[in-house]
Amino acid sequence: MSEEGQAGQGGGCLFCKIASGEIPGKKVYEDANVFAFLDINPRNPGHTLVIPKKHATTIMDMGEKDVGKLFESVRYVAEAVQKGTKAEGLSIVQSNGKAAGQVVTHVHVHIIPRYLSEGPVSLEGVLGVKKMPEETIDQIASTITQNLGAAQSPQKGKDEFDF
Ligand code: 5GP
Ligand code: ZN
Repeated sequence: MSEEGQAGQGGGCLFCKIASGEIPGKKVYEDANVFAFLDINPRNPGHTLVIPKKHATTIMDMGEKDVGKLFESVRYVAEAVQKGTKAEGLSIVQSNGKAAGQVVTHVHVHIIPRYLSEGPVSLEGVLGVKKMPEETIDQIASTITQNLGAAQSPQKGKDEFDF
């Protein structure tokens, strides 16, 4: 939640320090807003992390435009990672909160080169599939829709996609 890194929570934020150059990182890209560097424990060669330079813990702590800027850069770096590693696919993973597997509490997007020889890795394999009655599914959809009222709303289709 902090806008100023996690210094107040003790020890400072690792990724703030990497973005500022205080701790070394294998930088692959940087602009005014984002910093991209190789993961220290790559799941495959070229595994890259893209982070906002400004501290935020989860994407819900960032404004919609800032999340948009972050993902514009993710798309840009992803193309270079794919070409640079000759990856056959890319897993783009972004975890929010401990329950989702987030270890470093500074927003980061993983770009992981993937290959057909590895076999498919799916969330179904990790989480299984929860079968539910249609009534329950409708209730869940309705609850999510109701909560959009309190969520930060996007530009609501004012700008159409270009693709
Ligand atoms: P998470 O599990 O939070 O989604 O991912 C955190 C990632 O940060 C992990 O893939 C981990 O290997 C990477 N990481 C942790 N510490 C460092 C570090 O000091 N330098 C770099 N380059 N990556 C790190
Ligand atoms: Zn940080």
